[in-house]
Amino acid sequence: MSSLAKQAGAVFDVGAIRQQFPILSRQIDGKPLVYLDNAATTQKPQCVIDALVDYYATCNANVHRGAHQLADEATRRYEGARDTVAEFINANSRNEVIWTSGTTESINIVAKGLAQLLSSDDEVLVTEMEHHANLVTWQQACKQVGAKLVVAPIKETGELDLEQFSALLNSRTKLVAFPHISNALGTVNPIAELTAQAKAVDAWVLIDGAQGIAHGSVDVQALACDFYVFSGHKLFGPTGIGVLWGRQDLLAEWPVWQTGGEMISEVTYQDAVWNVLPYRMEAGTPDISGAIALAAAIRWFAGLDIQAVQVHEAALLEAATRQAEAFDGLTIVGTAADKVGVLSFVMDAGHPADIGFLLDRQGIAIRTGHHCAEPLMDRLGVPGTARASFSLYNTLEEVDALFAALSKVKTMLA
Ligand code: PLP
Repeated sequence: MSSLAKQAGAVFDVGAIRQQFPILSRQIDGKPLVYLDNAATTQKPQCVIDALVDYYATCNANVHRGAHQLADEATRRYEGARDTVAEFINANSRNEVIWTSGTTESINIVAKGLAQLLSSDDEVLVTEMEHHANLVTWQQACKQVGAKLVVAPIKETGELDLEQFSALLNSRTKLVAFPHISNALGTVNPIAELTAQAKAVDAWVLIDGAQGIAHGSVDVQALACDFYVFSGHKLFGPTGIGVLWGRQDLLAEWPVWQTGGEMISEVTYQDAVWNVLPYRMEAGTPDISGAIALAAAIRWFAGLDIQAVQVHEAALLEAATRQAEAFDGLTIVGTAADKVGVLSFVMDAGHPADIGFLLDRQGIAIRTGHHCAEPLMDRLGVPGTARASFSLYNTLEEVDALFAALSKVKTMLA
């Protein structure tokens, strides 16, 4: 059993969890903060804040290169953080864990390399529900070499059309990229099944785990995908740090994306030899404190009873959906059978931006707009949505507060 796994008998107590998040006791204009913008970023427990502060207070030094004790301690904590990530996602080797600034950079690293491996006969398959990070990046890589970007359609519910997805796979498909969970709709994709289908045509598979990583457990070996990417800040960790996990044999040959210190093993004025993994993909001084604090976040998250977390989050979504369905003049956008964490909606009473503004006046933080998924909004025929997104520290009382506030919004806009 993984040493990260929760202690037997650990109980999920949302009140106790909330107490670990200092920001959740904040007031906004004299009203208690109701933070429902977790798909944008999650809040940080005290242990993560402490890990950041402790690093700077006790062992700040550059990693790998110093001949002194601080550098040694910083390197041990930093490389220990890599081990924590590897264990958390069940990587085959720690060398498969590449530190990046986040999901966006991770996808860009893979896409920059892919552009060198693609030819004009190749295709890249994505879905209609992509975040811009997992769309524009492939679109531009394809444009560079004249390859074709193919977009698998979704149904009205916001679920991927699996038949069409299968039909679009063929021997020209070089890479398939899709989200684990849609940030705009909350749809949970059948990622193992999609991966297996892509593998049947010998395509590489990248899973955008930006949203998926904080809602369950991920086992990259069981998934048998090639790349799984995520951001620390959506997993209770700091901003500016993220992970590119890739299969070792693939990453070892993948074109390097940045050159400089750390990623080389030998340099002359004329040439350079690249370092081994993971360093060949990590040029320059990394986000040392970010990696260490992300490991603290992972240890904290993995110490929870994940099944109990899922039950709690499902109850929040169920309560929110029930109230939304009964709310006159409100339409839910995204009604997939397998959904998590997100209630996207539009209201007859007004524009999503006005809804967001008026909720904020009542202490309720949601996100409005196209959620970095402009083509998806076009596909669904909405200019944007209001999106309440839930995390494990939200409560049923906060769901009630959202709908009480929405009733007031409706009256104000009438
Ligand atoms: N992919 C999805 C599904 C997302 O939700 C996000 C962020 O919202 C991203 C990619 C980009 O993540 P980041 O901005 O942390 O790089």
